[in-house]
Amino acid sequence: MNLHKSQRIAVIGGGISGLAAAHRFQELAPQSQVTLFEAGSRLGGVLSTVHRDGFQVEQSSDNFITTVPWALELCQRLGLADQLVQTNTNCRRTFVVRRGRLYKLPDGFLMMAPTQLWPMAVTPILSPLGKLRAALEYFIPPRLDDDDESMAQFVRRRLGRETFDRLVEPLISAVYAADMEKLSVKATLSRFREMEKQHGSLIRAMRHQMKHKPTGKVESGARYSMFVTLSAGLSTLVDAITAKLPPESIRLNSPIEKIERSGNVWRILPAGAGQFLEFDALIVAVPAHRASPLLAPIDAELASELGQIEYSGTAIVSLGYDLKQVGHPLDGMGVVVPSIEKSPILACSFSSQKYTHRAPAGKTLLRVFVGGAQRPELAEMPDAQLLPLVLAHLRPLLRIEGEPEFCDIAHWPRTMPQYHVGHLERVARIDARLALLPGLKMAGSAFRGVGLPDCIHGGERAAEQILG
Ligand SMILES: Cc1cc2nc3c(=O)[nH]c(=O)nc-3n(C[C@H](O)[C@H](O)[C@H](O)COP(=O)(O)OP(=O)(O)OC[C@H]3O[C@@H](n4cnc5c(N)ncnc54)[C@H](O)[C@@H]3O)c2cc1C
Repeated sequence: MNLHKSQRIAVIGGGISGLAAAHRFQELAPQSQVTLFEAGSRLGGVLSTVHRDGFQVEQSSDNFITTVPWALELCQRLGLADQLVQTNTNCRRTFVVRRGRLYKLPDGFLMMAPTQLWPMAVTPILSPLGKLRAALEYFIPPRLDDDDESMAQFVRRRLGRETFDRLVEPLISAVYAADMEKLSVKATLSRFREMEKQHGSLIRAMRHQMKHKPTGKVESGARYSMFVTLSAGLSTLVDAITAKLPPESIRLNSPIEKIERSGNVWRILPAGAGQFLEFDALIVAVPAHRASPLLAPIDAELASELGQIEYSGTAIVSLGYDLKQVGHPLDGMGVVVPSIEKSPILACSFSSQKYTHRAPAGKTLLRVFVGGAQRPELAEMPDAQLLPLVLAHLRPLLRIEGEPEFCDIAHWPRTMPQYHVGHLERVARIDARLALLPGLKMAGSAFRGVGLPDCIHGGERAAEQILG
């Protein structure tokens, strides 16, 4: 669709996806009349940084990956390149809990595959039988078809039950807050299926990659060297985009209640406006469970597909301590807790070890994640109940004495879309419905990646498609 320069565009949703879309219009077609409608009283959606007592608390996302370009490039275009900070090089390792104690994840174990065999052989996290089963991965014939399968099925098939339960499940849960029995491999970590296909085994694939990789410090867990954040917090990104948009184009406290279509004109009703506003094109960048009822009068099938994307929620409890209160040396990026440990804690990030500017000297900032698909009730538990529960489980893990110097609790119910088996097919069906609705595009974490770079890419692509 090629828009005439004076045409009117509405972006619904002021999270990073909607902001990226509005910003792209501003970059490519500054003459277009874009209006951004946000239900809440601030922009950024789940992105939120707070500063208190010298601590910098990221209330949700705390960094982004740079193996895909979109977030990095946006930061560069916004003039934020000199504010990008890498993770602390001294402690790029992860701990994992086994029977209430912290153990170092085997060096070189990246998400679901070992790059080094010796650390796997000597780790106390797995039993001798569990290790033997993981080693057999080398010989297990690859699955060569293209059908989807759940993360649990894939990892058990390749590495065995124990490696799944003790190593992979907690690492992946910490990122996707998902039920591993339902999470789609193809929609999340498809590169591991590709590795299986191409090399016949994950171990072979990893060894091949290591041979062709420049030597550097060995990492474990996530690929920490690939992540960056912004020195003044990720809200800087929201502020920098906002500063580029004409102030009159932003409507806060304006939840859209209805969408209608009349010929080529899109009509939307913001709460309290009293009348529909008319636009030539629309980008809907709200969570799928919010978009579904809005789009039901336009296309019931599209609305039904959107409504079937499930969401999980988390709460993040950020705790500031004097380093002297913490018995554990915190010589890593954080700890993940397998669900078989039956703890309310999914993971705890050693936030100021990961990025040292986040706490004053002599202090430490810990970010504890609870909830997810397995324990959704924790995402909404009242603070007065949640804090004691978290502290009761965190204290023995990290040998903490005394009370935190401060605490910040952020609740994020129904914010993490769950890419269940079949998600990619659902997204293809959604695309097919959207193709029949000229002038309507969708963006957001519900579709092609939950990470910030993917959300930015989705927003920018929607704007580019509208501009033709
Ligand atoms: C706890 C947590 C930690 C995360 N950590 C990371 C991380 O470290 N790195 C990373 O890359 N990603 C991370 N993510 C993922 C990433 O932050 C999100 O996927 C991304 O920010 C989602 O952006 P969005 O714009 O699609 O949606 P949202 O941020 O949900 O924004 C949607 C917006 O739409 C608005 N809205 C809803 N309904 C309406 C309506 N009817 N009318 C108008 N407006 C409406 C909402 O108020 C909201 O502002 C994390 C996510 C969470 C929840």
